[in-house]
Amino acid sequence: MRVFTNYQKFLKEIEEVKKLDKKPSLLLHCCCAPCSCYPLLLLKDYFNISIYYNNSNIYPLSEYNLRYDTLKTYVNNLNKKEKIDIKLIKKDYENEKFNRLLGKRKDDKEGSVRCFMCYALRYKDLVDYASKNHYDYVCSVMTISRQKNEKMINKILEGYVSKKNDLKYLYSNFKKDGGLEKAQKIIKEEKMYSQNYCGCMFSMREAK
Ligand code: SF4
Repeated sequence: MRVFTNYQKFLKEIEEVKKLDKKPSLLLHCCCAPCSCYPLLLLKDYFNISIYYNNSNIYPLSEYNLRYDTLKTYVNNLNKKEKIDIKLIKKDYENEKFNRLLGKRKDDKEGSVRCFMCYALRYKDLVDYASKNHYDYVCSVMTISRQKNEKMINKILEGYVSKKNDLKYLYSNFKKDGGLEKAQKIIKEEKMYSQNYCGCMFSMREAK
């Protein structure tokens, strides 16, 4: 039996979406503007996008707000330029909850178990929100990051989506088709703020 990669599954799903009479709705998890700029450009032609910013892993609060504001500026400009209406949903900051959980694996290197716990906490909330609010699709931009485990992201998210009858999962690997290089070009052109650590207090210490 042929096994499809996550990128091939993505392409296949886009072909299905193109056949529809109207764009389906997509709740897109975005962690920051640098990771989101290229996926948003790619997806805007196929979906009515709402961005879900639920990244209470980010420490401290000022950094949480700075990343959100950078994303908001990018999205507002894109909406104006493309005459589209990407919406932004910002969740309350609940960093203590993340610190309690991730602190159990504080000495892990980035990309290991601590990160899988971090993805899971954010993605469960994302999928519950999408299901409750009747979105058609769910996806996360985080598969673009070099430091993130694309296979685990897809596996965890797909696992939550499979428990909901009314929701579809959009597999992704935004690194493909030169995604990283395209994102770097946008970041440079837009003079976009780009952080030097992943987000949690443990990754901040690791980066110093
Ligand atoms: S390094 Fe990033 S993904 Fe990993 S636990 Fe910290 S914030 Fe989450």
